[in-house]
Amino acid sequence: MHLHELVKTAKYIATPGKGILASDESTGTIGKRLSSINLENVEPNRQALRELLFTAPGVFDYLSGVILFEETLYQKTSGGTPFVDLLVAGGVVPGIKVDKGTVEIAGTNGETVTQGLDSLGARCAKYYDAGARFAKWRAVLKVGPTEPSELAVRQNADGLARYALICQENGLVPIVEPEILTDGDHDINGCAAATERVLAAVFKSLNDHKVLLEGTLLKCNMVTPGSDSPKARARPEVIAEYTVAALRRTVPPAVPGVVFLSGGQSEEEATKNLDAMNKLEVLKPWTLSFSFGRALQQSSLKKWLGKKENVAAAQAAFLVRCKANSEASLGKYAGTGDGDAAASESLYVKGYKY
Ligand code: 13P
Repeated sequence: MHLHELVKTAKYIATPGKGILASDESTGTIGKRLSSINLENVEPNRQALRELLFTAPGVFDYLSGVILFEETLYQKTSGGTPFVDLLVAGGVVPGIKVDKGTVEIAGTNGETVTQGLDSLGARCAKYYDAGARFAKWRAVLKVGPTEPSELAVRQNADGLARYALICQENGLVPIVEPEILTDGDHDINGCAAATERVLAAVFKSLNDHKVLLEGTLLKCNMVTPGSDSPKARARPEVIAEYTVAALRRTVPPAVPGVVFLSGGQSEEEATKNLDAMNKLEVLKPWTLSFSFGRALQQSSLKKWLGKKENVAAAQAAFLVRCKANSEASLGKYAGTGDGDAAASESLYVKGYKY
């Protein structure tokens, strides 16, 4: 096992003031992004969007990691520099999505388990050789009258633990991601109860499998009311209190960092919630930062529209979000001052698939 390297990589990614860009949308998911600006889902367009993000001047000051999809791991800039080399030169650790999506667990009310364990070791070794140093695996759970079921919690916790161990055996820091969807009419207490139950099961399983927690990062949802709840909105201070309480009850201090997904929140909401967590005056033994996909890219995408002449403006919009979230990860966010409406637009999609 690459113990020393794993601990060092995880600690580096959890550097205070830095976070992760999740740009690992599968070919299907990036297709939805591109179609929202009337672009065809073809390789040159996918490459152009990633190049726009990775070459935005100044963004590496705020990022410690970027998650890539397999295609992107092997892609280059239009000038011929491999994306991986560009990231490494900028002090940003390249990561790779290694799960293969979800399938329904028969007999449940639409609950899922994540696929991709077959030949995962060989794939991790190949990705390590290509320069990846961390990985992501997304497990998805939902809140309902009988959900998450005990079966779904156990299956997903064990899947995450087996994935994590295989990554570590191959030198990749696993990002363990049990995402609880916001879909549902539950209140914030319902989300808190599910989050705590799932996180407790995940860490029990990680320990049972002897996963090195010091070489692991947690990626999770913030604790919020369900999207169909009569009180679908909660103030950042309330979300912060519930989320940090859930983490303090379940996540061992050996884990260097917790990075949040944005889960359909608007860019501005996600930033304010992260900031409120870092402003909370309670003991937080881990770095609390971001690993946003939608909440880092949305306003940039809207500015770009696939046009060369818009690239600089789109990069500037991306930089605004990276800087804002970096400040939020230190509890020092005081607004971007640019009043961009796109930043306040909800990015929620029911039953979102990554
Ligand atoms: P969002 O921030 O778009 O929710 O997703 C991040 C991610 O990587 C989910 O797996």
